[in-house]
Amino acid sequence: EDVVNRIAAGEIIHRPANALKELIENSLDAGATLIKIVLKEGGLKTLQIQDNGCGVKASDLPLLCERFATSKLRDFSDLSRMTTFGFRGEALASISYVSAAMTVVSKTKDSDCAYRASYAEGTLVPPKPGQSATPKPCAGTDGTQIMAEDLFYNVPQRRRALKSAADEYNRCLDVASKYAVHYGGRGVGFVCKKATSHVTDLSTPASDAATTLDTIRLLYGSSIARELVRLKPRRVSSLGFSVEGWLSGANYSTKRTTFLLFINHRLVDCAPLKRSFEALYGSLLPKGGHPWIYLSLEIDTEKVDVNVHPTKREVRFLDEDDIIEAVCEHAQDCLAGANS
Ligand code: ADP
Ligand code: MG
Repeated sequence: EDVVNRIAAGEIIHRPANALKELIENSLDAGATLIKIVLKEGGLKTLQIQDNGCGVKASDLPLLCERFATSKLRDFSDLSRMTTFGFRGEALASISYVSAAMTVVSKTKDSDCAYRASYAEGTLVPPKPGQSATPKPCAGTDGTQIMAEDLFYNVPQRRRALKSAADEYNRCLDVASKYAVHYGGRGVGFVCKKATSHVTDLSTPASDAATTLDTIRLLYGSSIARELVRLKPRRVSSLGFSVEGWLSGANYSTKRTTFLLFINHRLVDCAPLKRSFEALYGSLLPKGGHPWIYLSLEIDTEKVDVNVHPTKREVRFLDEDDIIEAVCEHAQDCLAGANS
């Protein structure tokens, strides 16, 4: 049974960057305003994340890594949380199945101390052999720290499919950077540390568009930031969505499209939307040139398929064609406005 669970978990958590995305989303769900990431060997040796969010109650820790534990932990009166794409209760369970050890240290505001708990294969385990498998009080600040060690040590077929530690690190940094761009302008700071080297501040958060542009400049470079045009905030009530972002203009062109897409504040893929933007730029850029695009789309939650499976970052929503067309038209207007 464990082998089956492990393989299932390996389908959800493919690589360190996947695990990191799930952990970042949990920290954001917990209301964190500072998220610190530490990666050793591209996250394969150690993947650690610390946040200053609401924390997990000591009494909830035993259930934390049980599959579909969400309903047991979550206050269902808080429906706003159901709007996130993270509503599945599988991430922590899966990470515990594919890592040699997973440790959580968490403190809520009303608790006098933090509690430490260790997990393997979805259940609480003793921190040391011979000890009891219960959360242990310890020192700690408000929030949650999660550390996963030796990822995929027990899933050889997944381990073999992975690239070098350097490549896995870059994928992790890519995910963290995209979240830093989106959340830097929304008051959430990110720090990423490659173990044994310097800390990289991914953002200095504030709540404005200028901060978003500063974060982009820091993480993607000034040659891109200089050429960006603001996709002005726009709401189309008849279609139930709003959009804003930053787009490269006619003077910027690279070999590959960079497309940062957040829908309802989650990093997602939407191939038809990306294709439409590439078509829009096809007439704007020299042949073979590609744009840099960051879009934040908020779509009324009843239109979005929130039950999208964790292995699929691709998102579906109602009135997709009409919304994509409206977003592209607005983008075209903003680009034209910047040119005149
Ligand atoms: P889901 O996010 O779909 O509920 P997860 O396995 O990702 O499932 O997380 C399970 C639960 O653990 C969450 O619903 C939340 O209650 C709790 N949790 C996970 N990470 C954190 C965190 N960083 N801070 C507070 N609670 C957390
Ligand atoms: Mg989650």
